[in-house]
Amino acid sequence: MMFPPLVDSFGRIHTSLRVSVTDACNIRCRYCMPEFVKGFLPQDQLLSFESIERVVRVLAKSGIKKVRLTGGEPLMRQNLAQLVKRLASIEGLEQIAMTTNGMLLPPMVHQLAEYGLTHVNVSLDTLREESFRKMSRRNGIEQVIAGIESALPTKMVVRLNALVLRDINLDDCIPLVEFALERCLFIRFIEFMPLDADRQWSRDQVVTGDELRAILETRFGPLVPLERADPAQPATDFGFAGRTERSGGVGFIDPVSKPFCESCNRLRLTAEGKFRNCLFGREEWDIRQAVESGVSDDAIYTIVANCVGAKYASHGISTSQFLQPPRAMYQIGG
Ligand code: SAM
Ligand code: SF4
Repeated sequence: MMFPPLVDSFGRIHTSLRVSVTDACNIRCRYCMPEFVKGFLPQDQLLSFESIERVVRVLAKSGIKKVRLTGGEPLMRQNLAQLVKRLASIEGLEQIAMTTNGMLLPPMVHQLAEYGLTHVNVSLDTLREESFRKMSRRNGIEQVIAGIESALPTKMVVRLNALVLRDINLDDCIPLVEFALERCLFIRFIEFMPLDADRQWSRDQVVTGDELRAILETRFGPLVPLERADPAQPATDFGFAGRTERSGGVGFIDPVSKPFCESCNRLRLTAEGKFRNCLFGREEWDIRQAVESGVSDDAIYTIVANCVGAKYASHGISTSQFLQPPRAMYQIGG
């Protein structure tokens, strides 16, 4: 049986689901987590792999085509490859992606690829240990780089994500692009959003995509706009004169300076089983209790359709009514 597409009241069709598998992480990025965490969700409060599979199976029948595993750090979830294997068996899913800090990738990367992970985005904000320590309050840039290198020989599509904070890693943007191009990768810069646990977000720390682009053009020459592969993709991608798309490029995700809510097709499921229709939403729809009590596929679909139906037109970061959501990025799933 198929279900109707997940369309909100503004006509946006939802085809992409981000599944957080844990709120735990092995580092403490200052734009995401607090330095000291009171405690992560206990194992028995996490949505089980069986339940995640069940929910995704229902949603694939209503047009969800892409699942992205995230967290916290998704590789902190035990046996993550087993979840990938379950998801890969679902008819209708075209992409199973993961966003990771990469540090735990090397021993698992081949199994993840073999079991059906198609895309891996590794977050890389700097190449220098000193600024890595300032950003993540931990050591380990070598581990991140080893994680990236480990994924390159697999058949998975590898991309890099970078976040720039004006006072910490602005000088890293050119070396980061050089690093990406040396490996024929795309690197996408995402603007700092008010989702940090410490609530230290301020507009002067945000380096906009336009500002980064101007800096990069001083080193690489004019960036060449690329056609949008997917109209709902949040990134605007660019190549470089004299280089083909296959040899890498750069993208900008500008939720603060150029909100892209109009084309948003994304839904989120938190690690403990709450559906959210927006990163900045303040309402959640619990699915865990329903799934664990053995409800029908119809009932699962209805909960998610209600969540989609209640979606606002826009996150409103720049409005005077904006309120930072009670959860930080690591508790939602980025
Ligand atoms: N731990 C994994 C990682 O870092 O890639 C996955 C989860 S993390 C929350 C997902 C993405 O969210 C990362 O690329 C990170 O840079 C981004 N992120 C975290 N906090 C953010 C914030 N306040 N504004 C914008 N992006 C943020
Ligand atoms: Fe961990 Fe990712 Fe948040 Fe950094 S951004 S603290 S790696 S969850």
